[in-house]
Amino acid sequence: MEYKTILVAIDLTDEAEQVLSRAVTMAKQHQATLTLAHVVEPVGYAYGGDLPLDLTELQQQLETSAREQLSAHGERHGIAKQDQRIIIGRPGTEIRRLAHDLGADLTVVGSHGRHGLQLLLGSTANAVLHGAENDVLAVRVR
Ligand code: AMP
Repeated sequence: MEYKTILVAIDLTDEAEQVLSRAVTMAKQHQATLTLAHVVEPVGYAYGGDLPLDLTELQQQLETSAREQLSAHGERHGIAKQDQRIIIGRPGTEIRRLAHDLGADLTVVGSHGRHGLQLLLGSTANAVLHGAENDVLAVRVR
C-alpha cells in the first residue's frame, strides 16, 4: 500500500524531532505529500474559563511562539509554509479533524507506550487513534 497524503502532528517538545523525521522518511518512501501540524490548546481550558482575566494576549503569544517553532522544524525538513498548520483546540480532536479535511491516509504521532493507569487516563496518540478514519502510525519515542 502506498500512502499519498501523510499528516504528522508534533508537540514541539524534544521528542518532536523523532516523530517528524520518521514521517519525513515515510513521505519520501511513498512519494507522499506531508502536512506538519501542531495544536495549541486554548489557555482558558487550563483554568476552566472562570478566572476574571483577559487571556487574549497570552494566547496570542503562545500561538506566535508555536508558529515559530513549527516553522523551524518545517524548514529543517524542507516542508513548505502552506504545509505547516497551527490549529487551536484539543489535540486529539483537531488532529483527527485535520486528517479528515486533508484526506490523509496516514497520521503519524508519537507514543510513549504508556500502559496501566496512564493509558486509561489517555494520551494524544490514543485520542487520535480512537475514531480515526485512516491508518495511524504511533512512533515510539524514547
Ligand atoms: P502525548 O500523548 O502528549 O504524550 O503526545 C503523544 C504525541 O501526540 C506527540 O508525540 C505528538 O505526535 C502528538 N501531540 C501531542 N500533543 C500535541 C499537540 N499539542 N499538537 C500536535 N500533536 C500533539
